[in-house]
Amino acid sequence: MTAWVGTVIDAVYVVAVLAFILGLKAMSSPETARRGIVYAGAAMLAAVVATFFSPGLSNFLLIAVGVIVGGGIGYYWARVVQMTAMPQMVAVFNGMGGGAAAAIAGVVLLSSLNNPADAGLSVAGAVIGSISIAGSVIAFLKLQGWMRQKPIVLPARQPVNLAILVVGVAFGVYSVVRVETIFLLPFFLLLLLYGILLTLPIGGADMPVVISMFNALTGIAVALDGFALVNGPLGDAGYAMVIAGVLVGAAGSLLTVLMARAMNRSISNVVFGAFGATEETGVTVQGTMKPIEVEDAAVLMAYANQVVIAPGYGMAVAQAQGKVRELSDLLEAKGVSVKFAIHPVAGRMPGHMNVLLAEAGISYDKLYDRDEINPEFANTDVVLVIGANDVVNPAARRAGSPLQGMPILDVDQAKNVLVIKRGQGKGFAGIENDLFYKDNCRMLYGDAQQVVAKLVQALKRSG
Ligand code: NDP
Repeated sequence: MTAWVGTVIDAVYVVAVLAFILGLKAMSSPETARRGIVYAGAAMLAAVVATFFSPGLSNFLLIAVGVIVGGGIGYYWARVVQMTAMPQMVAVFNGMGGGAAAAIAGVVLLSSLNNPADAGLSVAGAVIGSISIAGSVIAFLKLQGWMRQKPIVLPARQPVNLAILVVGVAFGVYSVVRVETIFLLPFFLLLLLYGILLTLPIGGADMPVVISMFNALTGIAVALDGFALVNGPLGDAGYAMVIAGVLVGAAGSLLTVLMARAMNRSISNVVFGAFGATEETGVTVQGTMKPIEVEDAAVLMAYANQVVIAPGYGMAVAQAQGKVRELSDLLEAKGVSVKFAIHPVAGRMPGHMNVLLAEAGISYDKLYDRDEINPEFANTDVVLVIGANDVVNPAARRAGSPLQGMPILDVDQAKNVLVIKRGQGKGFAGIENDLFYKDNCRMLYGDAQQVVAKLVQALKRSG
């Protein structure tokens, strides 16, 4: 292989890295996020193609078959997936990354066990990658509803898990120090088991935070593998893996921290706290939930100066965003000011509401984050809560509540609150919502899409 080929490959990697960084930057705003995905995808494609020309690469057919089969499945799945099923798809794709990192580490361990530096890095990559794939599979099963979503809390889970982790890592270290392969299989098995046991006690709705954490771990595992590969025949590909892994690790870590912060919880509380395993006791909510007819709700909104719409997970499940856009347009045509109150953890993934509302063509300047909109509620005539629960639950202000301290949308301060939900269902935190029982609150029962459609019809009838 001539020297210039290596130079071209290096140049492609450098350009790919720059495109990754620009792509990540663009993904930080909904307006430029699509462009960011294209940059990052194109960069990954370029890096993969360049790697095919690396000196020392063999098994072209096997790799090509892997790329075509894996790429085909990924392409098909991404096209058909529903927005609400996105978290579990990300869990699986991320798990694959962790599994690939663990597999690469396994190959390096088998081929370079006598090189302590590479083997040590591979042990670290294998530990993190194995935990990530096993945990991601459990996350997928929970989110898909194929496994109990509530935390599965086994007795003495903390010391047992710690013991499994310690023994597993010890097997890996022993393999490197004694240059022995005999304990490599139990090493991998124990870490896979640890990944499963770590994730079982985490409730279904905490999974997005956990997936983000596993995503960060996968990035770190890939970076460690990259370091181990740098001295081998595919050295340049190793550098590319280091950079890509570090970027994924950094972005995933930041996202994990931001999501946990928006829920006012520490990451250790999300991962080790078995949140949602116990329910709040000794609190009885006063009052009753009072229904309102669609026609009356439509009149209330039509005569308001300002209506604030607070969407949540139920709007996403019902795919009601298109109808919500119609409602908003109709109200504005009647001279009503319409704003959207966006809570950072409404729905089931960061930016969930922004994405759905953008999909429906609602302009960004109508979207207000919590700090911007909270001071306005006291002067708002009507707040329409669509399938949101925890993010508007005043119980967050109550000491001892599982939501205590979670910053919420203060919708209960508005003159009138209308809530669309199907029945008495609780939010993800599994606790009663005081808001629904307040004097200024009325319930519009039903699926969010159908109820909003009825509101639209009622508003049209009212002329
Ligand atoms: P919640 O999950 O608290 O509540 C959703 C509500 O929607 C339920 O009360 C349910 O009541 C109602 N609902 C469900 N389906 C429908 C439907 N088809 N039509 C109408 N209503 C429906 O949602 P929020 O958005 O308020 O809160 C999100 C929660 O998820 C927070 O606790 C947050 O911490 C958590 N979380 C969010 C993450 C994120 O990144 N966004 C990440 C991790 C956790 P009913 O059954 O009666 O209809």
